[in-house]
Amino acid sequence: MRLLLLFFVLLLPACSSSSDIRETRFIMGTLVEFTIAGSDHKQADQALKEAAAEMQRIENLFTIYGNADNAVKAFNASQPGTTVKLPAEVANLLSISLDVERQSQQAFNPSLGKLNLLWGFSGETAPDHPPPAAIINAARPPRQCIRRQDNNWIRTDARCMLDFGAIAKGYAIDRGIAILRKHGIQNAIINAGGDIRIIGSHDGKPWRIGLRHPRNKGEVLGTLSLVGDISIVTSGDYERYFDYKGKRYHHILNPQTGFPATASQSATVLAQEATLADAWSTALFVRGESGLPIMSQLGYAALTVDRQGRIHMNKAMKDIFNPSR
Ligand code: AMP
Ligand code: MG
Repeated sequence: MRLLLLFFVLLLPACSSSSDIRETRFIMGTLVEFTIAGSDHKQADQALKEAAAEMQRIENLFTIYGNADNAVKAFNASQPGTTVKLPAEVANLLSISLDVERQSQQAFNPSLGKLNLLWGFSGETAPDHPPPAAIINAARPPRQCIRRQDNNWIRTDARCMLDFGAIAKGYAIDRGIAILRKHGIQNAIINAGGDIRIIGSHDGKPWRIGLRHPRNKGEVLGTLSLVGDISIVTSGDYERYFDYKGKRYHHILNPQTGFPATASQSATVLAQEATLADAWSTALFVRGESGLPIMSQLGYAALTVDRQGRIHMNKAMKDIFNPSR
């Protein structure tokens, strides 16, 4: 999904170590890099294999693309107004998504599936022009169109289709880290196309993460040196986009308009769980600078780059961010 952050362990000689165990897999449409430090090969190999399989399972469970059936696609095809039972994991991620929708004042919206399919950024062929405005308007779901009834779920309208594209990768990373830990791994990074969770340290030193510059390829805005258990997720308008008549169209939509959100070039959120960092980086991208106080209230370090390229950070981010210049 997002090639937002440059993961520096591979790039900075000071941070790499011959004892690191690395493996790369293609999951969720992106290269997922696993790095394990300070473990023996046999233990790490088995852990990596199982973590990758678990992340693939999450992709299959949540994707609305491809030909295989899953519960999310079944919900999206259900008769509006009828109750649908969702697997516990899907219901759980949906509940978290609806919380973020409420807390972000509707910047985040898990029911934009129909609109996202229409724009086609995650489809087989990349789009090169926007759909007609009338068709976008007709695909916009009404507000709060997903309801819970006891343990079942209802979509109230045919325009309302689930899409976990803004949160499922974070959840997959969290599940991958849980599997590594189950195998006794204490120091590791999972980097899924720039969405990162780290645990432990790197040969007793912090892991060093570069935050990608949203416009200058190969440049970073700055770096973060981190230890412990933390996720760093960025949403950016440079991940999937096309230019049409001098304007950039990208994959993160403003639910109010049905068109790509215009407040930001990128937004980065640090939270312990990648699930939350992923959901909130998308929400913060849509909100722009005005979303930073919400991040502070929730205790997350966060940064946005506005449409003019200016950087805005909350205090928690200022305390840890090392700017490039
Ligand atoms: P991310 O790259 O994590 O910011 O997620 C972007 C993906 O989430 C898109 O490809 C869509 O599938 C979906 N999406 C787009 N706009 C929104 C939004 N405002 N709220 C929730 N999901 C969205
Ligand atoms: Mg996201």
